[in-house]
Amino acid sequence: MYGKFKEMLAEELAQMRENGTYKTERVIRSKQDREIKVGGKKYLNFCSNNYLGLAGTKFVEKSSEKAVKKWGYGLASVRFICGTQTIHKELEKAVADYVGMEDAITYSSCFMANVGLFQTFFTDQDAIISDELNHASIIDAVRLAKSERHVFKHMDMADLEEKLKATKEKRLRVIATDGVYSMDGDIAPLDKICDLADKYDALVMVDDAHANGVMGKKGGGTPQHFGVENRVDFLTGTFGKALGGAGGAFTAGKKEIVEYLRNRSRTYLFSNALDTAVTGTSLDVIKYLKKHPEHREKLWENTNLFRKLMKEKGFRVPDAQHPITPIMLGDEKKAVEMAAALFKEGIYVIGFAFPVVPKGKARIRVQVSAAHTTKDIKTAVEKFAKVGKQFGVIN
Ligand SMILES: *Cc1c(COP(=O)(O)O)cnc(C)c1O
Repeated sequence: MYGKFKEMLAEELAQMRENGTYKTERVIRSKQDREIKVGGKKYLNFCSNNYLGLAGTKFVEKSSEKAVKKWGYGLASVRFICGTQTIHKELEKAVADYVGMEDAITYSSCFMANVGLFQTFFTDQDAIISDELNHASIIDAVRLAKSERHVFKHMDMADLEEKLKATKEKRLRVIATDGVYSMDGDIAPLDKICDLADKYDALVMVDDAHANGVMGKKGGGTPQHFGVENRVDFLTGTFGKALGGAGGAFTAGKKEIVEYLRNRSRTYLFSNALDTAVTGTSLDVIKYLKKHPEHREKLWENTNLFRKLMKEKGFRVPDAQHPITPIMLGDEKKAVEMAAALFKEGIYVIGFAFPVVPKGKARIRVQVSAAHTTKDIKTAVEKFAKVGKQFGVIN
């Protein structure tokens, strides 16, 4: 059989190469940091989710070593058999407190937190109302629930209201949204979403992966940014982005919700306990960030500086409020070729084109980090200006 299957795969892979959707993985020969090594050369890194700059620090390295020394390498068990250590309980408490919710439960990844959420609570009597640009993990998670699915136009409150009206007969309705969207860095209007949820008696689920440690007065995330921590029912998040960068994740919410998840969520019950290194380090990271707001302050200083300087150079930068900064180019080919030209200049950024973003909305996505120095930001802007002129994007 394999011969025929192999041919099929080869054909499709060739197709991907032809239409530009084939993904080549760049091999990094250094730690994750403001500067990384690819091949023999160093590049300023503007495409990681290392927003607070913690991933490359001695702090997380030491913390994970300490955790492994004290708690061993791993548990070889799910949580409810013999896989819950003191640090798991401490981490869950710390996370809940950090995001302003009653309780939290850990998962191996935010993908698994999402997959373990909808199918646990929602049945064929319910409806899930999801933003059209939600992360792939939400889309797949929603598919696993047997509920009716409704998709509303991206951040369109009028359309969301229509969908809420159309599902009045359902037992439960839940609105699902990313806190921050990865392609534009735009922020879901959680205040308005919660108002609609109240008006129509719906629940609210937020995936805050890009916002953990970044958004909100104290880094607590998008609900904190809007002051709606009490009105969001389910909050999923990750330790794999700003909060250390290795992996691991959580769902936070009201205590009955978390208690129910511990008893019924399949990706929690039937998957290993979070490993000791990630558990111990995530706990240290949260404690550390409470006392060290300077990482978030530097992140915002860098973000604002980068956005300001790029606009001054004449680039089109949407007015979103997140370190994710799309440089809008429109033309598909230009986005990809310009990113390649910037790479030659020592700046590592990614060009996104259709089908990852809508047709005509190709862009280079820049992700600013607290790890960047002011000089890094200025260097990146200068290189963008140089390449932008070559490509006729700016004058
Ligand atoms: C990155 C991301 C995830 C996946 O997080 P992992 O912990 O790496 O699985 C889920 N949701 C959103 C919105 C993300 O941006």
